[in-house]
Amino acid sequence: MDINKLETWYQENHRKLVFRKTKEPYYIWVSEIMLQQTQVDTVLPFFSRFIETFPDVFTLANADEDLLHKSVEGLGYYRRFRYMHLAAKKIVEEFNGIFPKTYKEVLSLPGVGKYTAGAIMSIAYNQPYSALDGNVIRVLSRYLNIDDDMRIEKHRKKLDLINQDIIVNATPYIYTQAMMELGATICKPKNPLCDACPLQVHCQAFANDLQSKLPVLSKLKKQKEINYITLVIRDKDQIYLYKRTEELLKNMYMYPQFESESLQQVLFDLEAQNIILEPVEHLGQYKHVFTHLIWYMDVYEVRVIQMNEQSIYEKYPYQSVKTLPMAIAHRKIKR
Ligand code: SF4
Repeated sequence: MDINKLETWYQENHRKLVFRKTKEPYYIWVSEIMLQQTQVDTVLPFFSRFIETFPDVFTLANADEDLLHKSVEGLGYYRRFRYMHLAAKKIVEEFNGIFPKTYKEVLSLPGVGKYTAGAIMSIAYNQPYSALDGNVIRVLSRYLNIDDDMRIEKHRKKLDLINQDIIVNATPYIYTQAMMELGATICKPKNPLCDACPLQVHCQAFANDLQSKLPVLSKLKKQKEINYITLVIRDKDQIYLYKRTEELLKNMYMYPQFESESLQQVLFDLEAQNIILEPVEHLGQYKHVFTHLIWYMDVYEVRVIQMNEQSIYEKYPYQSVKTLPMAIAHRKIKR
């Protein structure tokens, strides 16, 4: 690979992203966790606010759980931030608050997989560890004309070893960022800008006009669809919410919702639990798309006639909906 050309291109052309201006491992870690499954433009404002609120690992380790979730509300995939919180506590307890420096230690942090460990080791510590994300997979598949299905783990592992062989001959902190940047800005999924690419001369996909065929990614399974009746339960200037315990959106606050297509059926079922509600207004139908799931929510405002105080729903001041960390699926409901 034309490593020198690639690294020179990166140094002259890369976007001046706030988390690319530092080699501070705490910042690199936070940015890499935020960038998982999330676009750079979405992450940027969150990253700056997050660093202001939690400037170091001690602040993060001691953070109130709700404040932490509120600060990332909207980014989705909240499990990563629960793990981040656990990892911060581990760094404080087991590493005296100093970010771990070896690959094995970094990989031992909750929520840190091979990719994130590779990114931290190469970007923060300039150590030759592969960080194979979707961008790097695309660039390498095209550059080397590899037509293995990259949804299959053993093929990604093979590519990871190839990337590992390349990075040992490169400047790790530049190479990792250059490959990510090239994939994001030049070797894009559609219409790659090959004429601006530093790797064009030896790129197999360019030579054989295969850019649109690579990487090979088999179709994902169809998303499961669920219909909910969602209830904005009011009791004068108070509202009932619950804090999710399910893995998806765990610890985020939600309006109570029930897998059903019938409001009457839901009200009838709740009555059996000593919860009596009276419909006030139909607030509309909402849809929220997750990676593997689509929620269709038929939303009603209802008034409390009788509430079983032993239920999982808790009463909050109406205004607290604005301040509590809420799942975006419900944040967008207009009351
Ligand atoms: S030449 Fe085109 S296809 Fe090849 S790596 Fe560069 S942008 Fe991607």
